[in-house]
Amino acid sequence: MRVESVFDRLEPLLPRVSKPVQYVGGELNATAKAWDDVAVRWCLMYPDAYEVGLPNQGVQILYEILNEQPDVLAERTYAVWPDLEELMREHDIPQFTVDSHRPVGAFDVLGLSFATELGYTNLLSALDLAGISLHAVDRTDDDPIVLAGGHAAFNPEPIADFLDAAVLGDGEEAVLEITEAIRRWKAEGQPGGRDELLLRLAESGGVYVPKFYDVSYRPDGAIDEVVPNRDRVPYRVFKRTTMELDDWPYPKKPLVPLAESVHERMSVEIFRGCTRGCRFCQAGMITRPVRERSIEGIGEMVQRGLAATGFDEVGLLSLSSADHSEIAEITKGLADRYEGTNTGLSLPSTRVDAFNIDLANELSRNGRRSGLTFAPEGGSERIRRVINKMVSEEDLIRTVSAAFANGWRQVKLYFMCGLPTETDEDVLQIAEMAKEVIRAGREVSGRKDIRCTISIGGFVPKPHTPFQWAGQTDPDTIDDRLRKLRQAINADRSLGRNIGMRYHDGKPSLVEGLLSRGDRRLGRVIERVWREGGRFDGWNEHFSFERWMSCATAELEQLGVDVDWYTTRERGEHEVLPWDHLDSGLDKEWLWADWQDALDAREQDDCRWTPCFDCGVCPTMGTDIEVGPTGRKLLPISPVGQGSPVRNPAFNGG
Ligand code: SF4
Repeated sequence: MRVESVFDRLEPLLPRVSKPVQYVGGELNATAKAWDDVAVRWCLMYPDAYEVGLPNQGVQILYEILNEQPDVLAERTYAVWPDLEELMREHDIPQFTVDSHRPVGAFDVLGLSFATELGYTNLLSALDLAGISLHAVDRTDDDPIVLAGGHAAFNPEPIADFLDAAVLGDGEEAVLEITEAIRRWKAEGQPGGRDELLLRLAESGGVYVPKFYDVSYRPDGAIDEVVPNRDRVPYRVFKRTTMELDDWPYPKKPLVPLAESVHERMSVEIFRGCTRGCRFCQAGMITRPVRERSIEGIGEMVQRGLAATGFDEVGLLSLSSADHSEIAEITKGLADRYEGTNTGLSLPSTRVDAFNIDLANELSRNGRRSGLTFAPEGGSERIRRVINKMVSEEDLIRTVSAAFANGWRQVKLYFMCGLPTETDEDVLQIAEMAKEVIRAGREVSGRKDIRCTISIGGFVPKPHTPFQWAGQTDPDTIDDRLRKLRQAINADRSLGRNIGMRYHDGKPSLVEGLLSRGDRRLGRVIERVWREGGRFDGWNEHFSFERWMSCATAELEQLGVDVDWYTTRERGEHEVLPWDHLDSGLDKEWLWADWQDALDAREQDDCRWTPCFDCGVCPTMGTDIEVGPTGRKLLPISPVGQGSPVRNPAFNGG
């Protein structure tokens, strides 16, 4: 394959496609290195459109870490919209990177980050457009190693046929080790070809190579066992955990999107992991333990990132940002530092109980007061005990009342529908909660224009959580409950008028459920859906439930399983789960005990503040909870206009 840029051939097509600017590259802080000056070349892909993929922190972090290596280059590619895909096929243009418009097939590694399973069909489009064989077994020494990461990689079995390898957990150190292995193998003259390289990666225990594992099934369709088929390959693959986040202050120079994107702000990850133990939350479970970035580390990243980008909003990211042990000092310190500069601060995820209004006031000190968002997740006290979301209605009402008293007019509440053991009554309680919010808001503010928006998503049981054994609720039941909820809200005109309700129908959740707890037999379903036109399944306008169901029926029937078997069926304690050989550190017995506690509506504490309850992660991973408070300050604080630490014209009225 030629390694020259395809831009000359691409450019004439761009006026014919939607949002052409997303394909041109050259963003502020993008890197383009000379091809021949390096030993190892990575192509990083977020398998969704540019506007969703560009802000992805995981990709940006790895992009920068790899490009900092003198003899390594990393470029990016995103899923191309169907309009461009059609033209690329017509004009024989391969999948290309946006940085240098090089063909993806020419790189050593194609690394994909999967946040959701709904990106799987886009993986197939990219492989096919790149001229890379869809099935890993058909690839030659000239093809890139196709490597998956991200949360969905904790069960990559449904896409096992299409992957050469997967990495579980944090990528910072893993990409450097994989790079080193490739560098050495190439320098040695590629001994043993592709197979030897994959064996070297697999024997480390930190890279999963699906083709080195055989899966056998029982007559009832369940997995009998998963065993390695090579001597050098371990039985279990462990997840990667980056400790000391302060040593990894990435991205240092965040990419500034050229085209419109979902987040146009600078994001700083203030801690990783969460030990609250919400039983539905895969991210919380698989990213344990908690590792906090220090207050000085955060301050430096914000300062350097703003200077490098010109963004005027900072998002303090994590799974539950208000839980950082020094969040009050961090927000106050940043609000002081950027006072009068128009720089907005936000905490994209907050919890009712950790949140307080002082914090909200600090965040909005620089003039922005967007709506407040809380996530009680479940409508009734009982269901919140089942899911271990320990928030009482009193807590919520007290918090929102304080917010309304401080001038907020609007709150948004997130819920899930279809949770294990849920009844209609649990969902109808959402209406009561929303009405109570409006009543409380009117009372404390003395105003009528109080609004509450409830946003409801369908629950999907995920691997490596206590709910991995649960039966998923079918879409009809979910839709029926949401209809009843809508009626209950509208039944009271005077309050219902001020309550907005947003929800998606339950069908995409069922497909997500099929893929997230699936095994290798789903590969043929995914391939069929893709061959029949499946693309961008995370997008309403492209998603077709009927296509997924008809392809699943056609492919699974002959194997003696069906969609219900994968989704609405409850699993037994001793069933071998498709991801049991992939070690997230969580002890399966602990997860099962927690599942039993859930069924009995028994709560579990957060191990950050109580003694360890042996979930298994810390001893397995050789890690420890890393939390403050350190008692240190975010210094220096120098007001803008008197020697601002931020050298950026955007803050000087420019
Ligand atoms: S091993 Fe103990 S301290 Fe570590 S995450 Fe699990 S419960 Fe918490």
